[in-house]
Amino acid sequence: MAAEGLPHDGFDLAFDGRDHRIDLNGLTGGKRVMVYGQTEVTRDLMDARERSGAHAVYGADEVQPHDFSGTDPYVTYRKDGITHRIDCDFIAGCDGFHGTSRRSVPEAALNLFEKVYPFGWLGILADVAPVSHELIYANHPRGFALCSMRSASRSRYYIQCPLDQKAEDWSDDRFWDELRRRLPPSHAEALVTAPSFEKSIAPLRSFVAEPMRFGRLFLVGDAAHIVPPTGAKGLNLAASDVHYLFNSLREYYLEGSEAGLNSFSKKALARVWKAVRFSWWMTTMLHRFPETSEFDQKIQEAELDYLTHSRAASTALAENYVGLPF
Ligand SMILES: Cc1cc2nc3c(=O)[nH]c(=O)nc-3n(C[C@H](O)[C@H](O)[C@H](O)COP(=O)(O)OP(=O)(O)OC[C@H]3O[C@@H](n4cnc5c(N)ncnc54)[C@H](O)[C@@H]3O)c2cc1C
Repeated sequence: MAAEGLPHDGFDLAFDGRDHRIDLNGLTGGKRVMVYGQTEVTRDLMDARERSGAHAVYGADEVQPHDFSGTDPYVTYRKDGITHRIDCDFIAGCDGFHGTSRRSVPEAALNLFEKVYPFGWLGILADVAPVSHELIYANHPRGFALCSMRSASRSRYYIQCPLDQKAEDWSDDRFWDELRRRLPPSHAEALVTAPSFEKSIAPLRSFVAEPMRFGRLFLVGDAAHIVPPTGAKGLNLAASDVHYLFNSLREYYLEGSEAGLNSFSKKALARVWKAVRFSWWMTTMLHRFPETSEFDQKIQEAELDYLTHSRAASTALAENYVGLPF
């Protein structure tokens, strides 16, 4: 990330045929965000783990945590037809929204909070220079659009689409035409197109499972919470959970104190809910909901107008966007 990531000092909000730059750097006293592919983060972490000499098991089936309410938890999995068992002190359940960790917790012990949004994001990747060197978040009567990038020569574009549509319904030409329509004219004219090499639809959801600790099992990242991608908080939240858990475990092993482990869930959830709120707010402000009336659209535009004319409002946006402190 340090070598290849793209540091960004701001982004554009486009609405009502114009765009407005949010100066992240100026509004937050020098902070910025880094644009870097998530799959590259995964690759870097896998490489770092291998270099450290730690063992990773890939391709494990039937992964199952056991006895985490007691003092001797263990994990079983199957590989190549053989069942393996790992005895451990603690289990970090970092297996995403569909993983087995959260599902292993008795239902009665979980409090679930969920909001499902009535649309998805159709995203493509194409080897073309990005339409702008910074991200553009567009609110348009036809729906939301986001111009993002993986690098100076690879663009990641998204448009809001109904949930009942399939990626195959969208030819590249149809996608590019729709994206152009949702951008202010200057950007629409500058958009360079090419065949896409990835196209998929992601549903949008806000979800939190509380608490994030069950005896010796800890839920981390998407296993415990999901945010809609507006605001780019999901992987960042997983990283802050890891930070809290790492410090708690260090305190336990080096100082013999369980204080950090006991406060992990409360501490992590306080930050999680702030990011859930921010992602929900960005999503609500920028998307067109099926029930959006002309009144609602005017309110959205007034909010964006206020945001772009008030330094206080822009600062609140920028402060959340660069990430609240851990
Ligand atoms: C369209 C889109 C755009 C996004 N953009 C951003 C962004 O710009 N910035 C950002 O911060 N976040 C973004 N996110 C969110 C981000 O992708 C997730 O929040 C992040 O990947 C969560 O990481 P995780 O490690 O908790 O879970 P995951 O990435 O889901 O990893 C879970 C892992 O566990 C494994 N696993 C699951 N079940 C099992 C099992 N039973 N046995 C063994 N292994 C299992 C999976 O194979 C996977 O490797 C975006 C998401 C989407 C959909």
